Formats: sequence, structure tokens, C-alpha cells
Amino acid sequence: MIKLHDKYFKPYLGEDEILAAVKRMAQEIAEDYKDEVPLFVGVLNGAFMFVSDFLKAYPYPCNVSFVRLSSYQGLTSTGIVESLLDIPEDINGKSVIILEDVIDTGRTLKQLVHMFSQTNAKEFKIASLFYKSEIYNGEYQIDYVGMEIPDDFIVGYGLDYNELGRNLREVYQLNQGNMINLVLFGKPGAGKGTQAGFLKEKYNLKHISTGDVFRYNMKNGTELGKLAKSYIDRGDLVPDEVTIDMLKDEVEKNQEAAGFIFDGFPRTTAQAEALDNFLESKDMQVNATIALEAEDDILVARLLERGKASGRSDDQDESKIRNRFDEYNEKTAPLKSYYEKQGKFHSVNGIGEINEITGRLAKVIDALFELE
Ligand code: AMP
Repeated sequence: MIKLHDKYFKPYLGEDEILAAVKRMAQEIAEDYKDEVPLFVGVLNGAFMFVSDFLKAYPYPCNVSFVRLSSYQGLTSTGIVESLLDIPEDINGKSVIILEDVIDTGRTLKQLVHMFSQTNAKEFKIASLFYKSEIYNGEYQIDYVGMEIPDDFIVGYGLDYNELGRNLREVYQLNQGNMINLVLFGKPGAGKGTQAGFLKEKYNLKHISTGDVFRYNMKNGTELGKLAKSYIDRGDLVPDEVTIDMLKDEVEKNQEAAGFIFDGFPRTTAQAEALDNFLESKDMQVNATIALEAEDDILVARLLERGKASGRSDDQDESKIRNRFDEYNEKTAPLKSYYEKQGKFHSVNGIGEINEITGRLAKVIDALFELE
């Protein structure tokens, strides 16, 4: 295990394995281009090591050059791709093969294709050492691939985590083992959002509230927002498929998190099962679920009060509030036994001063993770 900045990474691909893949690619491409002098264009910074080993393994005459793009901020793809070093000028009439270290969502690739399609190159092909087929958007054909890898954050062999790790000869994978992933349970008004706000600061976690994500989308008039609105206005649950996909997106967007607080998710058994499967596929798990307990009448009073201040449509009408409680009792309450079976269910009294309740939650968390 190695540590880069604040994160731990475990060995994933050995040097021999990587070099064998590079060699295979060089031979495959050499076969196709042995009768001409192709121009290899490495994509900096990540591809520098790959380009170097690739050229050493390429047996025929060739040219080499570089472009530089930047799309990663920390561990998350920001979606913004800048060009920092432009296309070489002597490209006319040449066969260009772009050498990429990794293709994931395809955003960088889109930019590259855009850049090169405006040149007078004879043709251009894409070769990527690593390829995350699970998340690639499939927009362009990838002509040569070294290795398909799962969608995990990797460093080494040119790839970095905030600029560290590029010099490693092997590839390492983010170790999710020491994450803290919590599910906060409780009926509407139990204080999940408020408490999550304190806990995320205390334990450096990413707070995902599905209710907040829906409200954000409603406010911005997105398709998702329009779809969710009718359910939310009535106090019904939004369909599982919609909510589950949205939740996965939120987790994907925050790969750098030291852990997550799931607030308002899962709310049905199908969601709980989907969460378990999804986290497992990322080498993660729910570590604990904590319920905030409070009686209905107290909650109704709290929600009506909150509705006055926030203007939330589902907080202003007692019958909608009661409908949300019914939804909870019918669909969410069964999750208690789901998590009890996994030995992961805990509950605290949700009545009292806000900081008192934070204290109760922290006590459970500290004991679980031996943080005391
Ligand atoms: P909340 O802010 O968590 O009380 O959520 C407000 C509303 O958003 C709920 O009443 C549901 O209509 C919808 N919602 C939030 N989370 C979920 C979920 N996990 N499954 C289905 N619907 C949800």
C-alpha cells in the first residue's frame, strides 16, 4: 500500500503486465503502418511513460510529438478539457496515431478528435493503453487498446492523483477499504439533513441527499426535475429506477470522497439492494446505518414549521406529510430488518437539542470506527 496526499492506493497492475500490453500494441500498430512513417502523438501529461515504452518497442521508422490537454481536477473528471499544447505543425499528409494513457468517459477523446479533424493529416487513429469500457460513452471508435480495466481510480505509470504518482512503474488503485459510508434513516423531519451537515464536517464525508438533488433539478427545470416533481408534490416516492441511477451518478461524481453520508437513500428494499451491489462493484460498502427516532406528532409540527420558512410544497400540507409517513412505514421501515441482518443497524433518539443529537450520532460512529 502507498499513500499519495491523503489517500491510500494498493498495487493493481505490475510492470511486466503493463509492458507486455505496450509491446502488443506496438506490434499490432507496426503491422498496420510498416510501409509508412507514422506520426505518434502522445497526450500529456499522463501518456509520457507509455509513449516512451511504446516507441522503444516500435520496430520501424516513425515520428513523435505531443499535445497537452487537461481534464482532471483531483480524482473527478470536471468535464472541462483545456488545450495547453497544440497540434504539431508538420502533420500534413501523415498518418497520425494518438497515444492516450487512459480513456474513460470519452470527454478528452472528443476534444482530441475535434482538434485533429481540423488538420490535413492523412488519417488519424486512437490508441489507448488503458480503457474503461464500463463508462466510455462510445462516441468514437478506439482503434487500439492495451488493456480494459474497471472504473476504479488508478495512479502510476504516468497517471497521477493531484500530480503525485506519475513516476511509479506499476499501476495502483484507490483503496476504498478505509472509507466511512453511512446511511441516515428517519422519517421526514427527523433531522437527517441537519445532522448530515454536521457529520460531513466532522468526518470529512460527502453528503448525498436524494431529496436535495431532486429539488435542485426541479429548481433548474431539468428533465429529471420535471419527472420527479409530480411524485414529490404529492408526497409519493419517485420510482426506483430514476432514483437509483441518480444516486449512482452522484457517487461517481465524487470519487475523491473519504466516505459518504446517504441521506434519504435507500428508501425501498430495491434501492438498498441496488446500493449494496453498486458499492460492492466499486470495492466499497455501507458500513453503518443510523436511524433518528421521533414520534409522528412532533415531526408533523416540525415539518409545518419548516414549510413556512422553506416554501417546500410537500411540507405545507398535513395530509401530504402523513402520506410521506405512510410511504415510510410501508416501504422504508422494512429496511431496518434488511440492515439488522447485516449487523449494520443502529438508532438514536432524535428528540432534543441539535448538538445533543449530533453527539449521540458521533458516539455511535466513533465506536464503530474506533475513532475515540
Ligand atoms: P426528502 O427531502 O428526503 O424528504 O425527499 C423529498 C422527496 O423526494 C420525497 O418525498 C420523495 O418524493 C423524493 N425522494 C427523495 N429520496 C427518494 C428516494 N430515495 N426514493 C424515492 N423518492 C425519493
